[in-house]
Amino acid sequence: MSSIAFAAVSKRYDDVDAVKSLDLSCESGEMLALLGPSGCGKSTTLKMAAGIERITSGEIYFGERAVSRLTPGERNIAMVFEDYALYPHMTVWENVAFPLRLRGISGQKAAGRIGEVLQLLGLRQQADHDVKGLSGGAQQRVAIGRALVRDPEVILFDEPLSHLDADQKVQLRAEIKRLQKLRRITSILVTHDQTEATAMADRIAVMNLGELQQVGSPQDLYERPSNLFVANFIGEPPMNLLVAQLNDGKLVGRGWTAALGDRRGIQLARHNGAAVTAGIHPEHIGVSPVTEDGGAKGVVVYREPRGDADVLTIRLEGVDGTAESLVAEIGGPSSWRTGDAVRLQIDAERVLVFDTRSGRNLAVAA
Ligand code: ADP
Repeated sequence: MSSIAFAAVSKRYDDVDAVKSLDLSCESGEMLALLGPSGCGKSTTLKMAAGIERITSGEIYFGERAVSRLTPGERNIAMVFEDYALYPHMTVWENVAFPLRLRGISGQKAAGRIGEVLQLLGLRQQADHDVKGLSGGAQQRVAIGRALVRDPEVILFDEPLSHLDADQKVQLRAEIKRLQKLRRITSILVTHDQTEATAMADRIAVMNLGELQQVGSPQDLYERPSNLFVANFIGEPPMNLLVAQLNDGKLVGRGWTAALGDRRGIQLARHNGAAVTAGIHPEHIGVSPVTEDGGAKGVVVYREPRGDADVLTIRLEGVDGTAESLVAEIGGPSSWRTGDAVRLQIDAERVLVFDTRSGRNLAVAA
């Protein structure tokens, strides 16, 4: 399988810079997610890899091969779309057989491959069914079968789970990941859903306004987001971003403080006195009764039960009326109620520190 590399790739539509000088690679056998809000340039990037959109400048490589000037047919890619794009009047078998038919592959050889793919996807029983009678999840499995059947070098997934309901989504994302690893198919997945990207991809490339913000494993992005945009985009519930000041190795917020520890205290010493933004994941905040010592004081404003976890919105007791709210995720179901006074324990080692103006994470080595 090929790797895919974008080298200084840009795309301009009239007066819109949809993708700006993108340098990014997807290794052979890897699944790379392109993640970002609507309009950030994900689909344009995917379409340029597919050859559906021409690039304005730069080059795209599949392995060593420059492909920018090749037609989609010459690139040996398969695509899986959000709306399945199946032939509704054909059976499951015929849909999966279609790409082989186009290439003149038929008879025993085709039947063997189609049978194997249907088996892999658990679609053997439905081989003779019309696709239009199938559930959305099963239709998307047929579309994946159609992509797999001709052993493409690369599969490009464009929001493949968008139209599915929640349980089909979870099932199919595990299924896609299993098949992708089994066949070691180099894959790019476009999604605006960070949960999907985190669950499926080996690495995630976060984009905003046509620019790559960061690329890394889901854990990298969660633990070491390079800027406020990535911090805000990764994690559910999202990271708390709080106003703070760096004061001699301590972060002083509105109604809370956190001692950063020696290593980071030294690392951040040159920013002493700076106004910063503190990033705190909701799961790194503990909540205890107000009778306990230590920690910031607050009041529970809202409790959202999520089964084995509770998400609490807490208003901090700030100084001079500048209170902020934050969100804590704790084990559930808990017995906290709206109006309860609480103390908060912030895991200082895990608080991130961002330059408020540039958005840059100050504690990540440049
Ligand atoms: P995403 O997939 O992240 O939602 P897109 O790649 O579709 O983003 O779009 C990136 C930017 O390019 C947007 O500003 C969008 O309006 C613009 N754009 C996309 N396709 C076209 C097109 N065919 N013509 C003009 N502008 C386009």
